[in-house]
Amino acid sequence: MEQYDLVVIGSGPGGYVAAIRSAQLGYKTALVEKYDTLGGTCTNVGCIPTKAILDSTHHYHDAAHHFTAHGIQVEGLSMDFNRLYERKDKVVLQNTQGLNFLMRKNKVTVIHGTASFVDNSTLQVVRSAQDSLLLGAKKFIIATGSKPATVPGVTIDKERIITSTEALSLQKKPDNLVIIGGGVIGVEMASIFNRLGCEVTIIEYADHLLANMDHELGDALKRILVKDGIRILLEQAVYKTENMGNTAKVFFRDRGGKEQELQADYILVAVGRKAFTVGLGLENTGVRLDARGMVVTNEQLQTAVPHIYAIGDVIGGAMLAHKAEEEAIFVVEHMDGQKPKLHYDRIPSVVYTWPEVASVGATEEDLKAKGIAYAIGKFPFSANARARAGMNTQGFVKVLADQKYGELLGVHVIGARAADLIAQGVLGLEYEITADSMSRVSYAHPTYSEVMKEAHTLASGRPSVNI
Ligand code: FAD
Repeated sequence: MEQYDLVVIGSGPGGYVAAIRSAQLGYKTALVEKYDTLGGTCTNVGCIPTKAILDSTHHYHDAAHHFTAHGIQVEGLSMDFNRLYERKDKVVLQNTQGLNFLMRKNKVTVIHGTASFVDNSTLQVVRSAQDSLLLGAKKFIIATGSKPATVPGVTIDKERIITSTEALSLQKKPDNLVIIGGGVIGVEMASIFNRLGCEVTIIEYADHLLANMDHELGDALKRILVKDGIRILLEQAVYKTENMGNTAKVFFRDRGGKEQELQADYILVAVGRKAFTVGLGLENTGVRLDARGMVVTNEQLQTAVPHIYAIGDVIGGAMLAHKAEEEAIFVVEHMDGQKPKLHYDRIPSVVYTWPEVASVGATEEDLKAKGIAYAIGKFPFSANARARAGMNTQGFVKVLADQKYGELLGVHVIGARAADLIAQGVLGLEYEITADSMSRVSYAHPTYSEVMKEAHTLASGRPSVNI
């Protein structure tokens, strides 16, 4: 039986980062992945392919709707759906090949096969019906990720009632699509297919889109998406779907009990994700799961068996690639006897619609619920010269700061390049900077980042010179 210092199960952003960091620190490391390619959900069917298609469809939408305003005439504009998906596949391939390179460079042993615990210290890896091997290790990391969740009455059949995974490998552009769920994945998928000319309806149970973010963001995004042609039905409870052969039906009712149904080429279920531990043999270990099936860990991300750690989507929390990556570094450095830190409240969330939406720290709803006194600085992109030059005037930055001391508590952005701008908010929160200090450094002109400066100025109690 081959012995390692560390065996990591799952090669998503949690697993591959953990394996590389472990090898960098000189540990004999193996990474086990059941699929043929490395990278997990994020690289194969999540972050990367969605952003590739979002970028392509954004160009197409710009060409169709905004180029003429710049004096650019395009005749005979069309979108080749197969080429769009082929480019996406190439982007995914570049990334998975990049991971193969990184594993070789760092001398991580990669084993493709399904891992299952035999006991607390031994893992069986099944590579094929005839081929399996046993691995022993001083430490293990479970990084097996998540799978799409559903709601009662909705069975994902992967044919007409699908998830984002199937939507990313369609052979033909659908004419219409109903998306159950107005969270991050739901609105990104809605943007993609709406830009391609599909009729898109989002059905959401909550009374806001992006219900986990500051509500002003979801409300602003809703207005923009509706203007773009997406139908959005809030406060609707889906209770049944039906595969009709060439189409599918969804049945739902509002809070007053009024029943409705819709028929579409596909029903895309985007109601969240659940931890994936099937077949991992956890019953042969002391590792415990909570009532929702998440692996239970302590603050050091150790399971009930101290030498078995767990990270990423499988332990719940924000199901984000960069959260999994931070946990990976944290765990490996903790194993190494270092004193790493992990601040969950400073992990940003991003939605790659256009405009983008990004957020870090407390929402206004959080502060109200906790009775914390706060000041708000809110500045619109429409008052920014760079945004006007680029015709990207939708949205705003909203800064929340402690009323008494001015320390940043939360930064919320909807607007062009929000995904990149939010890094400033993360730094501000991490180093406990005041809104006043954030506003007193120089921001290049003209840039979108000046909207951040103005919002910080307003949150510090001084007036803006630009509005
Ligand atoms: P995963 O990436 O899920 O990887 C787990 C790996 O473990 C898989 O490769 C799986 O095959 C393997 N595995 C499971 N069981 C076994 C076993 N028994 N033996 C061997 N291998 C096993 N997050 C962002 O931060 N930004 C985004 O833009 C973003 N976009 C997304 C878009 C979509 C459509 C989706 C679905 C998700 C998106 N996410 C995004 C979320 C992100 O993909 C996840 O948070 C991230 O992949 C979690 O990483 P992980 O390492 O925990 O698990």
